[in-house]
Amino acid sequence: MNTPVRQQYLRLKAEYPDALLLFRLGDFYELFDADAVVASRDLGLTLTGRQFSKGERSPMAGVPFQHAETYIGRLVERGHRVAIAEQVSVPHASKGLVERKITRVITPGTVREPGLLQSGCNNFLASILVQPGAAGLAYVDVSTGEFYMQHVVGEPVEPAVLRELARVSPVECLWPHEGLQFSLRTHGDADGEPGAAPVDFEPGPVIQAPFSVPNCVMTPVAAHHFSLEAASAVLESQAGIDSLRGKPYSQFVLALGAAGALLAYLRHTQPASITILRTPVLYQGEDHMTLDAPTRRNLELTQTMRGGAPSGSLLAVLDHTRTPMGGRLLRRWLNAPLVMLAPLLRRQAAVEALVADTVLRLKIADALAGIGDIDRLVCRAQQGTANPRELMALARALNRLQRLGAALGSAPGAGPEGSLLVASGDTLAAINGALDPCAEVASAITDALVDDPPAASSDGGFVRAGYSASIDEVDAGSKEAREWLAGLEASERLRTGIKTLKVVYSRVFGYALEVGKSGLARVPDDYVRKQTVAGGERYVTPELKQREALLLRSQEQRLRLELEVLEDLRQRVAMAADRMLRSADAVGQVDVYTSFAVVALEQNYRRPVLDTGDEIAITGGRHPVVEVSQRDTSFVPNDTLLDARCRLAVLTGPNMAGKSTYLRQVALIVLLAQVGSFVPAEGAHIGLVDRIFTRVGAQDDLAAGQSTFMVEMSEMSAILADCTPRSLLIIDEIGRGTSTKDGLALAQAVLEYLHDSPGHRAKTIFATHFHELTVLAEQRPHIENFRMEVLEEGDRVVFLRRVAPGSADKAYGIHVAELAGLPDTVIGRARALLRQYEGSNVDVKTTRRRLKEAAVDVQLSLFCES
Ligand code: ADP
Repeated sequence: MNTPVRQQYLRLKAEYPDALLLFRLGDFYELFDADAVVASRDLGLTLTGRQFSKGERSPMAGVPFQHAETYIGRLVERGHRVAIAEQVSVPHASKGLVERKITRVITPGTVREPGLLQSGCNNFLASILVQPGAAGLAYVDVSTGEFYMQHVVGEPVEPAVLRELARVSPVECLWPHEGLQFSLRTHGDADGEPGAAPVDFEPGPVIQAPFSVPNCVMTPVAAHHFSLEAASAVLESQAGIDSLRGKPYSQFVLALGAAGALLAYLRHTQPASITILRTPVLYQGEDHMTLDAPTRRNLELTQTMRGGAPSGSLLAVLDHTRTPMGGRLLRRWLNAPLVMLAPLLRRQAAVEALVADTVLRLKIADALAGIGDIDRLVCRAQQGTANPRELMALARALNRLQRLGAALGSAPGAGPEGSLLVASGDTLAAINGALDPCAEVASAITDALVDDPPAASSDGGFVRAGYSASIDEVDAGSKEAREWLAGLEASERLRTGIKTLKVVYSRVFGYALEVGKSGLARVPDDYVRKQTVAGGERYVTPELKQREALLLRSQEQRLRLELEVLEDLRQRVAMAADRMLRSADAVGQVDVYTSFAVVALEQNYRRPVLDTGDEIAITGGRHPVVEVSQRDTSFVPNDTLLDARCRLAVLTGPNMAGKSTYLRQVALIVLLAQVGSFVPAEGAHIGLVDRIFTRVGAQDDLAAGQSTFMVEMSEMSAILADCTPRSLLIIDEIGRGTSTKDGLALAQAVLEYLHDSPGHRAKTIFATHFHELTVLAEQRPHIENFRMEVLEEGDRVVFLRRVAPGSADKAYGIHVAELAGLPDTVIGRARALLRQYEGSNVDVKTTRRRLKEAAVDVQLSLFCES
């Protein structure tokens, strides 16, 4: 027969069988049975046991409740879900079994403890509903309240879903796992606004394959949750309907299904988080540049390819933001460059104004420095978890908004119609307009709380004296008792003559008079012995008992009143949450603009000219990351021109000459321009591109069971299918993973395809070690050859890192091998062999001749057909 507490445990565990249950027992969270085994393995805890019924011992492992956050964080990081069973009745007050309830379930996507979150990163929980040809995506951040929905199309749709998931980079993603049973029945016109005639949306087949997304836990959820009924919370709110008004119904119905599952999941894991979700924003994919996962990886936008660390990435160079809101927004902007001119010009103008006006920039930077994480503080207040210290931090942040507003108010006003100043004035003025310091809430907090309030609310002591008449009254009532107690030690020493007498306090036994062994003989009659301790005895007196009871009562009363004040402050914040969150968004924006301006000045970036033309012209371009990471050598700038005439630049040059760096720098300059930043160049004219594709290097994706060559070819095939004349293509070597002839043939065919099919003639830079390909420039009008310049002085080879017209004639591989430290014998032998090969170099010549003949053949056949 199980004990009552064991029965309680088993009942709670049955509610959340897939989570590790942390069961509160006094000062510990205990895990039992299989959970205890898992936790002791993953957290290095000692495995003990507990006897619940006769003969049976359950494995048990525990973590102290004060340090639970760290342990929970480690469990969640390892992909576990953690359910917390709290004691909800006061142990002393209730007779018998303490009542326990599961208060929340923590999964990677539902973490909200500040200590477990990265401040410059969103912590997105996503949900996908995929059908052939279209998919719905919804994602929320329960620590900031942000909520997005997106309709994704594609044929097939899976790569498009993966691209969007790579952009969002959620930590957890829900997907339906029961086939066809999801329902999308609601009231709504099939292609109009929601709320009209009832209609049954035809449930189509759901694509089930769980997607594999890096660093994301895929959580299967019963398919019936992907329903409009579940999403009704979104539809019910007027704001929710407004955000969708005017959009064809078919464009958000799947996203609503996905949102439905998200809401159901949140309700299941932590009901409180539903209340903090903001109005969902329908993310318009078409306004943004789609970047596929390999391109994101190759360009090292937010983390490096090797090691995945943020340092060494583009983000690390650009990030001079001073607030968590700015940090998160910068990351989002880098992950979703724009393709529309107007918003980019607005961003540029704001950056320009901040570059031009040092005083303004410094004032803004100074005001930003003290603003903490408004988003997350507001959400914690809304969820009722913000502690006194956090509320004070929020009040201070709000006060600093006034300073930020004053700084922005001194920005140059709107200039003459059509000038740049109009735009900069507009952007900064709009930001200023959105800033709302919510002074009444801020002063309510500072009036109520002491200057430096404690983080924990459980001990009280955070409400300022004079703020609440009732608290002051309680204080006054206990004043005499406190003073009496404060003087007790001295007065009792005097009365009894015991010099070692001390007044001590313990949580369990309360106040006592402690007398050392030497003083025991003098203990007066009215002392009642309470406890024996190592050095002597502890006593109480009737007077002490009476005062203690009074103090306890007043402490309890005071704490209750203080907690009421705290709750009132939280509610005031919650009422003003919308205004505060709008301000937080504005802070994020001005923070990113200021960060762009600081980088532009420190790294000597220039404002690129943007238009919708067909040209990419860069003078003196530099690689933003390599130029700062190279301390010893100075970076050599290079020019780039891709236009109607030169569509495809074929770049040859030895290893280590700087080809990859050059290729990436062009892509990064274009990307930075389309994020609204200035660019590392003397000047740039960028006709906006619709997409940037990169195919770089050779990487085995062994985990996915694909060889280097297979990866290379599938990436290439995706690029050739999707690129348009408005795209920018960076191809760094192709055809290396197979035989030379195979590889050369493929590389040439790809180049020809890009040149010859007008629908895919993307602006391309093609770095290759197949020198044979340079002959194509002679045959095709839009291909030009470039090479990395190399200076040869006797045996010495110097890489000049300069891009020049023409093609390279040597590979210098042996030179690079020598630099890498291969033994002299090997180098010597290789040189001799090379001389031998070069003597009989029929291969290249034959290839050139064949290519020319082949070109004539093609032209002839075209001629015959027409
Ligand atoms: P490749 O692709 O031709 O093998 P990389 O682009 O990898 O060459 O460059 C080789 C090294 O040269 C890099 O480590 C980089 O630091 C340096 N480098 C490349 N381009 C430049 C440049 N423009 N100025 C200075 N150093 C450069």
